[in-house]
Amino acid sequence: MTSYKFALIICLLIVFSGFGQEKDFTSNLYTTYEKYKEPSLDKRRIKHNNIQPLINKLSANPEFKVNVVGKSIEGRSLSLISIGTGTTDVFLWSQMHGDEPTATQAIFDIFNFLTSGDFKNEKENILKNLKLHFLPMLNPDGAEVYQRRNTLGIDINRDALSLQSPEGRTLKRVRDSLDADFGFNLHDQSTYYNAERTDKPATISYLAPAFNYEKDINEVRGNAMKVIVYMNQIIQKYAPGQVGRYNDDFEPRAFGDNIQKWGTSAILIESGGYKSDPEKQEIRKLNYVSILSAIYSIANGNYKNIPISEYDKIPENDRKLFDLKLNNLTYNLLGKNYTLDVGIHQLEVDNPSHKTYYNSSRVVDQGDLSTYYGYETLEGKGYTMVGGKVYPKILASIKEVSQLKALDLLRSGFTYVRVENIPKGENYVSYPLNIIGKDYKVPEFKMRVGVIPNFILEQQGKPRYAVVNGFLIDLKSGEGNFKNALILR
Ligand SMILES: [Zn+2]
Repeated sequence: MTSYKFALIICLLIVFSGFGQEKDFTSNLYTTYEKYKEPSLDKRRIKHNNIQPLINKLSANPEFKVNVVGKSIEGRSLSLISIGTGTTDVFLWSQMHGDEPTATQAIFDIFNFLTSGDFKNEKENILKNLKLHFLPMLNPDGAEVYQRRNTLGIDINRDALSLQSPEGRTLKRVRDSLDADFGFNLHDQSTYYNAERTDKPATISYLAPAFNYEKDINEVRGNAMKVIVYMNQIIQKYAPGQVGRYNDDFEPRAFGDNIQKWGTSAILIESGGYKSDPEKQEIRKLNYVSILSAIYSIANGNYKNIPISEYDKIPENDRKLFDLKLNNLTYNLLGKNYTLDVGIHQLEVDNPSHKTYYNSSRVVDQGDLSTYYGYETLEGKGYTMVGGKVYPKILASIKEVSQLKALDLLRSGFTYVRVENIPKGENYVSYPLNIIGKDYKVPEFKMRVGVIPNFILEQQGKPRYAVVNGFLIDLKSGEGNFKNALILR
């Protein structure tokens, strides 16, 4: 063996053993996750006052540097939390859209990882090579009322040039002062995104934003692409097929695009949907595992060996998912039968505190929906849609309705119960019968985009399934992913 060949083999061994170690690190992160999950942030509607005590705790830890780097319009503090002694700066910010908290939660899980005594070698490796800077919840005013925009009513992600928002100015100032090598721009996207031409939700979507209309790839953007390819491989292991790639059309007003232009390798991560995970806790875990793994890969430089060409192989993001899709139902209109697919979104409505929510569903499309997919799908051939009926007896209170046998009523075709006294401010009930007021007129049954889906699916003239507020209930078994029915006045 020539010394050249020998050296080559040694090099390859080093590279592959590096990847092997990373793989072990990643799967250990996945299996030990529960130990680091921050328990106080287990619901999506987190507020500034939920994260502030956790930030205060980090201030007392000499390993961390915590600085208030700005204030929101309503005066909530924006904190930059830094750790590490390396020469490569990695800057991560989350929740510039107030209703996109998944990565904020993951960042606090990452803090718990960093403050634990575990994973000593990997942690040393990370902190001697990198300086990590976190700015969690960039839009705390939006988070307070669980809305995308800030208190000025603007989208901070369209404010990178005009810089009218103090939140946007803070992000720009911190980026410029760090002149970070890598920037993680952490968001949530609609749960209705899927990986193109598949029924798989885009649980995670990525983008290495373009820095010009020509969509050129320079070293800065290329490095972002490499890290994305690396993270994609990780997600594929735990959520196969559930990754999408965002359209990279240049948006001159967006932060990601400009940060790429200003010389920081910008990586956009969007947390989407995952079946039966309304609080996105599995997706939070995937954020934790993939971001920490990416950080480790940046620390040891292994990402550099990844070919950029793999980036374009990630399937494109599409938006073709329904919460419930009903195929080939029979619908009678003016004495004639038609075949319809029906697509339903179980939309969220916040309670006044913006800490909890209920669902108020809508038909969002009907017709030939064969190019669409559902988190839940019913093959409805042979089932006829008929409107839900009103229970003939008027009850005195909502409490009395709760004592009825809901499933028996549904089996008889009733989806509404009339109630004499409905307390103010109540909008939903947790059992599958809609409550209607004394004077409420149930609209004539018509399948239309925009209506609240309340109907029975009959098989040979007998109720077989009920759809109550857009939730499907099997009337034979009584099963379904039911959440709530509505109170209609
Ligand atoms: Zn966003």
